[in-house]
Amino acid sequence: MSEHAATERTTSGKVLVVEDEPALARALAINLRAHGWEVVTVPDGRSALDAAATGSPDVVVLDLGLPDLDGTEVIAGLRGWTNVPIVVLSARQHGEDKVEALDLGADDYVTKPFAMNELMARLRAAVRRAQDAGAPQVAEVVVGDLVVDLARKRVARAGEDVRLTPTEWAFLELLARNLGTLVPRDRILREVWGPAYLHEGHYLRVYAAQLRRKLEADPAHPRHLITSPGLGYTLEP
Ligand code: CA
Repeated sequence: MSEHAATERTTSGKVLVVEDEPALARALAINLRAHGWEVVTVPDGRSALDAAATGSPDVVVLDLGLPDLDGTEVIAGLRGWTNVPIVVLSARQHGEDKVEALDLGADDYVTKPFAMNELMARLRAAVRRAQDAGAPQVAEVVVGDLVVDLARKRVARAGEDVRLTPTEWAFLELLARNLGTLVPRDRILREVWGPAYLHEGHYLRVYAAQLRRKLEADPAHPRHLITSPGLGYTLEP
């Protein structure tokens, strides 16, 4: 019977929920199972580290306020050996907790009280990003006279190396990995600057302009790094 269930089931993945409030832990488990997730819940930081090591979850939902370890210690502990996506839950309103959690390697952050739908969407997005990052990738993208070497993290224009800052590179790399496809503004902000920067749309304009100055023959009339106003950016082959 259990064997049958194991072969027949299609799950969204395995989620480890670290939450010390029993009512919320129960509500999370019920909702996650209803959305097809396989769920393990633990009430403290030490059992979280154990469960992550033995259960290999696809994503971790982590309350920052735990009875034994601080949630940030759990993030640091996990990041010592795994890139499993971590979505932090917290009642804390302070911006610095959020920044610290993200700096330590959390992938996203949801403030309590939150809507279950929103958490479900964040979890799916976190798992999708992790899967994209693990997918086989092309080594080199050629666009006109530009060669973007993804393996060596270098770009050359007409045979000459172009120096980019780490942020410029991250922006260009994301577009190059999605060559010819519109990459939405939110995705660029989230993946290049981090989920705390979703409202910093001006960064995109500033960095796109910098990249065009370095990469386009005529930065005022770009042929490769194309803006779709209000939507996002495309690297056109
Ligand atoms: Ca708590």
